[in-house]
Amino acid sequence: MSRYISELHRSFVIKRATQCCEYCHLEDDVNYIPHQIDHIISLKHGGKTELENLAYSCFSCNNNKGSDIGTMLLPNMEFIRLFNPRLDNWNEHFELAYGVIYPLTSIGEETIKLLKMNTVEKIMERNV
Ligand SMILES: [Zn+2]
Repeated sequence: MSRYISELHRSFVIKRATQCCEYCHLEDDVNYIPHQIDHIISLKHGGKTELENLAYSCFSCNNNKGSDIGTMLLPNMEFIRLFNPRLDNWNEHFELAYGVIYPLTSIGEETIKLLKMNTVEKIMERNV
């Protein structure tokens, strides 16, 4: 269970993401903290260090996501998984208007909440 990501794979992930965070769409040249490579399904949940499980992520999304893969909604204990950039189409779960990301699905809604995608700072950065 290696977390090492080769330079070749790192370059591929960045190019595939068109240099934007695959969760909040923040461009990597806007943020002063470098974007990172995220394990979509974290190693502790059995995710592997392979291209199908890697996403390009801004520091904020990666830090807020941590090893989470979803959230539990009370009172019914309904599990909602997080948006998966390799399986899901961003435009089916989110809509971007004037820097604010709006949810279109429960996956989008819970991902926005958990990753704190609409803080004032993030909205301002996306409007740059
Ligand atoms: Zn992000």
